[in-house]
Amino acid sequence: MLLGVNKIFLTKRVPLQRCPTCDTLLDAATSVNHTHDAKPKDATVCINCGNILQFDGEMNLKVVDVNELKAQPPEVLQAIFEVQQAVFQRIIERANG
Ligand SMILES: [Zn+2]
Repeated sequence: MLLGVNKIFLTKRVPLQRCPTCDTLLDAATSVNHTHDAKPKDATVCINCGNILQFDGEMNLKVVDVNELKAQPPEVLQAIFEVQQAVFQRIIERANG
Protein backbone atom coordinates (compact mmCIF):
# COMPACT_ATOMS: atom_id res chain seq x y z
CA MET A 1 0.00 0.00 0.00
CA LEU A 2 1.31 3.41 -0.88
CA LEU A 3 1.23 6.12 1.72
CA GLY A 4 2.71 8.89 -0.37
CA VAL A 5 6.30 8.15 0.58
CA ASN A 6 8.78 7.29 -2.15
CA LYS A 7 10.93 4.82 -0.30
CA ILE A 8 11.59 1.13 -0.52
CA PHE A 9 10.31 -0.59 2.59
CA LEU A 10 11.10 -3.96 4.10
CA THR A 11 7.93 -6.00 4.55
CA LYS A 12 7.71 -9.15 6.64
CA ARG A 13 4.86 -11.63 6.73
CA VAL A 14 3.37 -12.07 10.19
CA PRO A 15 0.72 -14.55 11.38
CA LEU A 16 -2.64 -13.80 9.75
CA GLN A 17 -4.74 -12.08 12.37
CA ARG A 18 -7.24 -9.32 12.94
CA CYS A 19 -6.51 -5.83 14.22
CA PRO A 20 -7.78 -5.80 17.82
CA THR A 21 -9.29 -2.37 17.19
CA CYS A 22 -10.93 -2.46 13.74
CA ASP A 23 -11.00 -6.20 12.96
CA THR A 24 -9.13 -5.81 9.65
CA LEU A 25 -7.21 -8.90 8.57
CA LEU A 26 -3.47 -8.22 8.73
CA ASP A 27 -0.67 -10.48 7.49
CA ALA A 28 2.40 -8.28 7.11
CA ALA A 29 4.41 -5.54 8.78
CA THR A 30 6.44 -2.97 6.90
CA SER A 31 9.52 -1.34 8.36
CA VAL A 32 9.89 2.41 8.08
CA ASN A 33 13.68 2.42 8.38
CA HIS A 34 14.47 0.02 5.49
CA THR A 35 16.45 -2.38 7.65
CA HIS A 36 14.45 -3.41 10.65
CA ASP A 37 12.67 -6.75 10.52
CA ALA A 38 9.52 -6.95 12.66
CA LYS A 39 10.15 -8.83 15.88
CA PRO A 40 8.35 -9.51 19.19
CA LYS A 41 7.66 -6.40 21.33
CA ASP A 42 7.89 -4.06 18.33
CA ALA A 43 5.26 -1.36 18.09
CA THR A 44 3.34 -1.13 14.83
CA VAL A 45 0.46 0.80 13.28
CA CYS A 46 -2.69 -0.72 11.78
CA ILE A 47 -2.80 0.31 8.13
CA ASN A 48 -6.59 0.52 8.24
CA CYS A 49 -7.45 2.34 11.50
CA GLY A 50 -4.11 3.82 12.56
CA ASN A 51 -4.20 2.44 16.08
CA ILE A 52 -0.81 1.77 17.63
CA LEU A 53 -0.36 -1.94 18.24
CA GLN A 54 2.40 -4.17 19.52
CA PHE A 55 3.58 -7.69 18.72
CA ASP A 56 3.67 -10.12 21.62
CA GLY A 57 6.19 -12.96 21.92
CA GLU A 58 4.41 -15.00 19.24
CA MET A 59 3.98 -12.03 16.86
CA ASN A 60 0.31 -11.68 17.70
CA LEU A 61 -1.04 -8.14 17.84
CA LYS A 62 -2.39 -6.36 20.89
CA VAL A 63 -3.20 -2.72 21.57
CA VAL A 64 0.05 -1.18 22.76
CA ASP A 65 0.48 -0.58 26.47
CA VAL A 66 1.13 3.12 27.07
CA ASN A 67 4.14 2.41 29.27
CA GLU A 68 5.69 0.22 26.58
CA LEU A 69 5.03 2.97 24.07
CA LYS A 70 6.76 5.54 26.30
CA ALA A 71 9.77 3.23 26.50
CA GLN A 72 10.34 3.38 22.72
CA PRO A 73 13.25 5.52 21.51
CA PRO A 74 12.28 8.99 20.24
CA GLU A 75 13.05 8.10 16.61
CA VAL A 76 10.73 5.10 16.84
CA LEU A 77 7.95 7.22 18.34
CA GLN A 78 8.44 9.77 15.57
CA ALA A 79 8.17 7.06 12.90
CA ILE A 80 5.06 5.61 14.54
CA PHE A 81 3.33 8.97 14.61
CA GLU A 82 4.29 9.75 11.00
CA VAL A 83 2.77 6.47 9.80
CA GLN A 84 -0.29 7.03 11.98
CA GLN A 85 -0.71 10.50 10.53
CA ALA A 86 -0.51 9.08 6.98
CA VAL A 87 -3.20 6.50 7.82
CA PHE A 88 -5.44 9.18 9.36
CA GLN A 89 -4.92 11.36 6.28
CA ARG A 90 -6.03 8.48 4.05
CA ILE A 91 -9.12 7.97 6.27
CA ILE A 92 -9.98 11.67 5.90
CA GLU A 93 -9.47 11.57 2.13
CA ARG A 94 -11.71 8.53 1.77
CA ALA A 95 -14.39 10.14 3.94
CA ASN A 96 -14.33 13.19 1.69
CA GLY A 97 -14.82 11.01 -1.39
ZN1 LIG B 1 -7.07 -1.48 12.86
